[in-house]
Amino acid sequence: MKSESTFQNLSVSRRIESLQARFSNAAAGEQSHAELGALIAEEKRIWQERLQSHNQRITPIQRKYCFWLTFLANERNLALHIKFISRLHQRLSALKNQQRIIEIKVFPHNTIFSYSASKKQINLKVHEALIGMSDQALDQFVALLFKPNKAELSRLMRAQYFDPKLEAVRSYFEQATVPQTGLNQPEGKWFNLEEIFDEVNRNYFAGKLEKPALHWSARPNKVRMGTYHFKQDSVMINRALDETKTPRFVISYILYHELLHKKLGVQMKNGRSRAHNAKFRKLEKQFGKWQEAEAYIAGLKVKKLKKR
Ligand SMILES: [Zn+2]
Repeated sequence: MKSESTFQNLSVSRRIESLQARFSNAAAGEQSHAELGALIAEEKRIWQERLQSHNQRITPIQRKYCFWLTFLANERNLALHIKFISRLHQRLSALKNQQRIIEIKVFPHNTIFSYSASKKQINLKVHEALIGMSDQALDQFVALLFKPNKAELSRLMRAQYFDPKLEAVRSYFEQATVPQTGLNQPEGKWFNLEEIFDEVNRNYFAGKLEKPALHWSARPNKVRMGTYHFKQDSVMINRALDETKTPRFVISYILYHELLHKKLGVQMKNGRSRAHNAKFRKLEKQFGKWQEAEAYIAGLKVKKLKKR
């Protein structure tokens, strides 16, 4: 198959994107389920083999992808998945004065749902576990989506996610995240690192960087703002920054810095100096507000010195 050979050259995050585009087409009746099913079956075969033979070296996203493929390789699940996208699409496009492009990504995301909207586009991510949501709950979801107060929306979706009727799919995907590390906990009190990652990835890495595990440090500190851990493929961000007063771009900047470590792949030895070479520093300054961000971070550290 022609599409398959090009597909094989893609990174995991691109494969996921590519499949998501195909699901949207299928939901719009523009791609056959059988063709999609065949592609998924072949992908599943390849990735299950990889998962079995290199279990240690598989990254969190690869593992999740493999679980996702296994789920979708079931005909009934695939049909439900596509149907869910089309049910959601119908409701969104029926909104008043709705002329924006609607992009729906259903996947075992790290969050139950998230969305962003601009004048031209609505981007919606929904957790795979929710594909069995009732029509009534979906109506409610769409009705609440654009209301300024998000509390009710969060409550609804949390209740749906933990609804016993949807438990089978939810607990299946819970196994997909590596439990013992507990490394992927992007949700802070104020900021969700996954959302910030998506922005930074889009803006600075052309969306090509595969998502590492993202989490906040257990405790706030004033020394280290972030760390990239090569072996675990994880980024930790200082909990001290998870405050309502922190400008979002400061967290984006620190995450960008850590992701540069991932991208450039320099092993750290005896501290961090080797990783921060001239090339690194040059790339770092490509961040839109790097000076403002640096000044903010320096401000945090100065406060600590004064106290001592
Ligand atoms: Zn660094």
